[in-house]
Amino acid sequence: MEDGKGWVESSLQWQTIEKFARRGRSLEIFIKNKSRYMFKLEEDFLDSGERFRTIFKDCIYPGSSWLTLVANKAPSFSLSVGGGLKYRLHCPYCKENDCDDCKRCILYIGFGNPFIGNLVSFVSLTNVEHPAKYAFDEAKDGTFKSSSFGGLRGVVEMIDAIYCSSKRIVFSVE
Ligand SMILES: [Zn+2]
Repeated sequence: MEDGKGWVESSLQWQTIEKFARRGRSLEIFIKNKSRYMFKLEEDFLDSGERFRTIFKDCIYPGSSWLTLVANKAPSFSLSVGGGLKYRLHCPYCKENDCDDCKRCILYIGFGNPFIGNLVSFVSLTNVEHPAKYAFDEAKDGTFKSSSFGGLRGVVEMIDAIYCSSKRIVFSVE
């Protein structure tokens, strides 16, 4: 389960997977929260393509993970998909993110499957404010990356996808 393989989501409909798998440019985005903080979505930026599954509106709770599927809009290889996500981390019992235990930490996640070039990814843990688009702009290649802030460490790596012939980008924070 470390990388989400072998983990089937009951809420993921077969029709969605079939539609997703037919697209030329696709990506599986898997976010693992191994920290004790909640990941609360602040901004969701999609530069191109579309989501086949949305949830980013809600929190990713400590010890849980989330999978989403993104792909180009038309059934064509001539289009790309890419975007960025901005999550604010806070402790589960703090509504205003203002207690001493809150890290005031932001998680940026960037991903892309461009028309030209290789898959790209980006991860950053920081307290610097940017729009979510920043994470997409910083995603320039698909190499392993890590980022540390306030005792937390975020890493991003690519593995083979499950629902398409492309890759799964695994973002994890602990
Ligand atoms: Zn707090």
